[in-house]
Amino acid sequence: MGKVWLVGAGPGAADLLTLRAARVIASADIVFHDALVQPDVLALASRARLVDVGKRDGRHSTEQRFINRAIVEAARTHAVVVRLKGGDPMVFGRAQEELGALAAAGIETEVVPGITSALAASASLGISLTRRGTARHVAFVTPRTGAGEDASEWLASAASADTVALYMASRQAPAIAAALVAAGRSPSTPACVVENATLASERIVATTLGALARQAPLALDGPAVLLVGEVFREASSSRAGLPWTPVAQSGSIASERRNVTGR
Ligand code: SAH
Repeated sequence: MGKVWLVGAGPGAADLLTLRAARVIASADIVFHDALVQPDVLALASRARLVDVGKRDGRHSTEQRFINRAIVEAARTHAVVVRLKGGDPMVFGRAQEELGALAAAGIETEVVPGITSALAASASLGISLTRRGTARHVAFVTPRTGAGEDASEWLASAASADTVALYMASRQAPAIAAALVAAGRSPSTPACVVENATLASERIVATTLGALARQAPLALDGPAVLLVGEVFREASSSRAGLPWTPVAQSGSIASERRNVTGR
C-alpha cells in the first residue's frame, strides 16, 4: 500500500511552495492535480504521471466521488501518491472527504499545508488582515454551496467579521457587495478584489462595497478573492474603483508600498 499526500500548491508562484511540498512532489509516482495548479509547480513532478482532476468555477469538473475512488485505487499500485490542490489543501478544498475515503480504505495519509489565497492577497496588497484595535477576527467565507445546503449561512459571518476573505465569489462580487450592504455593512466599507495573486498576471482593484455593488458582474480571467473590511481603507482610498489596472503599472498601491519601505 502506498501513502497519499494532500499537498498545498500555494496560490500560484512556484517559489511559494513549502520545501516539504517541493520534496514530496518531486518524489511522487502519480499526481492528481487541480486546474489551478501552475505548470511550473507541476514540472517539479518529474517522475510522476499527472492526472488533471481540475475543477474550475462553472466548468466541467471531475466528480468528487470519482476523485476519492481514484486516489484510493492509486495508493494500491503506487508508493507515493500526491493529491495537489491550489492554495492550502484544507481551505475550501474538500480535503475532509478525500481524507475520509482514504481512512476508510486504511490508507496512510499526510497533509502538507500551502499558502492560502487570502494570505497571498494580503501580502500582495501589503495590508495585514488583522490589526491591533480594529481587526480581531478574519472570516474565510464562500457563498458557494453544495446540493441541498442552506445558502443563507455565509452572509451572517461575512456581515459580522472584522475582515472577510471571500473565496469562489469574485464573479458575483457586485451581488455579494449588495447583499453585504443589505445585511448591514456600510456602503463605504473598503473592498478589494485580487485576481491571480502572486502570478505575473496579478490584478488588484480597490473600491468600496457601495461602488462594487453598482458594477456589472466582473469579467475575470483567473481566480480571485474578494476582501472586505476597514483594514483595506488605504488601498481603497488610493485606487478609485474599476476597471482593472495591473498593479505594477498603476502607481498607487505599488508606489505607496515603495514609499513605506523606502524602495
Ligand atoms: N484551497 C484554495 C482555495 C480553493 S477554492 C486556497 O487555499 O486558496 C478556489 C478559490 O480560491 C477561487 O475561486 C479563488 O477565490 C481562490 N483562489 C485560488 N487561487 C487564487 C489566486 N492565485 N488568486 C486569488 N484567488 C485565488
